[in-house]
Amino acid sequence: MSEEFQDHQIRDVIKINYKYTMGGQSKFFIELMNNKRLLGTKCTKCGKTWMPPRINCSDCYEPADWVELKQSGTIEVSTIVWYTTSAFIKAIPYGVGYIKLDGAETALLQGIFSENLVPSKIKKGKRVKAVFNKQRDGKMTDFFFVPEDEYDNWISKPEYEGGV
Ligand SMILES: [Zn+2]
Repeated sequence: MSEEFQDHQIRDVIKINYKYTMGGQSKFFIELMNNKRLLGTKCTKCGKTWMPPRINCSDCYEPADWVELKQSGTIEVSTIVWYTTSAFIKAIPYGVGYIKLDGAETALLQGIFSENLVPSKIKKGKRVKAVFNKQRDGKMTDFFFVPEDEYDNWISKPEYEGGV
């Protein structure tokens, strides 16, 4: 008697708890979470100020020191997001852009929220300020930028607060 092979299948769920390290950039996330400070790094040789921080200068490969940066900056380039992952679906439409913080020479990719989002509000050259979640986890989603003229409104919301 020959029978065709039939596999027996069981549907199950795998749940994975894991952790990962932010490595040499950990100080950025710890200061963000605990003190709402935005730290960049400054090259010990050429003096270039990096944001996001780099442990070693990407231009001359020398070590860089931590420096606190201002929490305001200028939009270098931006776009409006209409399609995103489930984590951000409730926020659409929202802006993302490269923001050069005052005092930094490189730009940080980050969300830009607006109460009345239109392209002209987040265009190149517009001034933005950082707003922080009251509940912070040491992640990039702990803060975002808003147009400077909306800052006071955003930090008056119960779930957000201003920086230092
Ligand atoms: Zn350098």
